[in-house]
Amino acid sequence: MIAVAIDGPTGAGKSSVSKAVAKKLGFIHVDTGALYRAVAYKSIKNNLKIFDEYSVNNFLKELKIDLTFEDNTQKVWVNGEDVTGEIRTEEVSMMASNVSKIPSVRAFLLDLQRNIAKKNNVIMDGRDIATVILPNADVKIFFTASPEKRAERRYNELLAKNQKVEYNTILDDVIKRDKQDSERDIAPLKPAEDSIILDTSDFTFDESVQAVVNLIKEKISE
Ligand code: C5P
Repeated sequence: MIAVAIDGPTGAGKSSVSKAVAKKLGFIHVDTGALYRAVAYKSIKNNLKIFDEYSVNNFLKELKIDLTFEDNTQKVWVNGEDVTGEIRTEEVSMMASNVSKIPSVRAFLLDLQRNIAKKNNVIMDGRDIATVILPNADVKIFFTASPEKRAERRYNELLAKNQKVEYNTILDDVIKRDKQDSERDIAPLKPAEDSIILDTSDFTFDESVQAVVNLIKEKISE
């Protein structure tokens, strides 16, 4: 099986580019942020306010998360409920960044991610794919772009979904999530030693897709 690990901060274009690349190459695209979002979504629903080990473990005991893939599209299920659309709000984004700092949450989601890569050719995107989840991935790419560019992309994405948002709030959230994701003790956001850094600030979407396809083809033919 071929595994491509794509990591990077929020709004660098990892997910949309990975999805397009997966379609071109006939791979499965796994957006692992959706898993942390699903945990966050359920914690909000359950009104979980205390995040000590005991409360989180009790919460995780009752939690079942699944991913399904159909026509190049991932669906996320929480205890049998399709939450694919519900997890895409700013509230869930911030909570996902909070719960993803908890070691038992990361441990809870580890096998699910590795098992998908065992059975399929995958492009998996997240924050710790190259460093923790798939350290032996065939290709490792770290996406980056300026915070302003990333906030602009996220702003346009949310506007297109008719969500009421302010650009400055999104920029603040992007900066706050970057800090939180890269400074946490467990599985911080950072490139692996052998990751290729791809700055997409000045790339169009199609240019980013082509750059990733080229990198994968180069690596795989080596
Ligand atoms: O990629 P996305 O923005 O959907 O991820 C939401 C949050 O989930 C991130 O801010 C990050 O804190 C967390 N995450 C993570 N590890 C991953 C994927 C996402 O910690 N592999």
